[in-house]
Amino acid sequence: MRAARFHPGEGLRIEDVPRPTPGPGEVLVEVAACGVCHSDLHIMDGDIPLVEPRTLGHEVAGTVAETGDGVALDVGTDVAVFGGWGCRNCEVCARGDDQLCNLSNWLGIGHDGGYAEYLRIPTADYCIPLDGLDPVAAAPLTDAGLTPYRAFQKTDLDTGDRVAIVGVGGLGEFGVQFAHLAGCHTVAVDQVPAKLERAVELGADATVDTSGSVPREIQDAAGGSVDAVIDFVGVDETLQWATNVLGADGRLVLAGIGGGSVDFSWNPLVGSEITYRTVQWGNPTELRAVLDIARQGRLDVRTEQVSLDELPETFERLEAGEVEGRAVVVP
Ligand SMILES: [Zn+2]
Ligand SMILES: [Zn+2]
Repeated sequence: MRAARFHPGEGLRIEDVPRPTPGPGEVLVEVAACGVCHSDLHIMDGDIPLVEPRTLGHEVAGTVAETGDGVALDVGTDVAVFGGWGCRNCEVCARGDDQLCNLSNWLGIGHDGGYAEYLRIPTADYCIPLDGLDPVAAAPLTDAGLTPYRAFQKTDLDTGDRVAIVGVGGLGEFGVQFAHLAGCHTVAVDQVPAKLERAVELGADATVDTSGSVPREIQDAAGGSVDAVIDFVGVDETLQWATNVLGADGRLVLAGIGGGSVDFSWNPLVGSEITYRTVQWGNPTELRAVLDIARQGRLDVRTEQVSLDELPETFERLEAGEVEGRAVVVP
């Protein structure tokens, strides 16, 4: 079968590799769609180190092609693939947060991923039936939709609460939608005017571009301090904005693989008792919830289909900020 494999120190190659065979308890999925994620750029830059060649791609939907012994999932079932694979033995996995178990186990990082014609999955528990959802629209939901969903859950916001969404790219677009669906007063923050226009289409109540005094403009747009900030960028500057706009008991959630550092020392501009938490991906239960919301027609998923051969060029466009919505490889 054909696969896009990253060779550390060399680069991405589209090559022929053996089609995997599912062992006991495992599932072989014929890939219908695999979302193209910024994390792949970080892997290829060496920020997420790989030691051996790996088929990338962790946002997968497809059709069950073959099953190993003991799998109660019918061949032909369309599924979304949960990608935050864990050991399924530890306490973290036992409580259902497999994605927090061990980074090296993740699909497309610790195991061969979905930029290929077929994908071997260690357990049917990670195959969630699409039940009518379009695989091309479902694939990005497994990460670009799931991570913002978990981030939004962790804000503990209620209807009418005020939230700032910082960075409205591939993930932030969904952050805006979940906040809007929950009835929050939603302020979208980005440096790109087109992304802010898109945020308004998706339900943002107000927008702030990053050319001026961002904290003051967020507070003006929100009508005061905000209850939560979801930061999809994660650099020192964006984290500091958050501490300047959060009110008492404010929640700052850093979603995805951004970083940055933040100063929490007391100052009169900063609300009291701020909580700062990170969010890594989401868990299988949350993915089911995201797919349910999509099935109700309540999520706007913008995709652009590309072939496996177009993947290297698609990564270049992604790096240059030229991909709108999510590029999805249809192998
Ligand atoms: Zn991703
Ligand atoms: Zn585990």
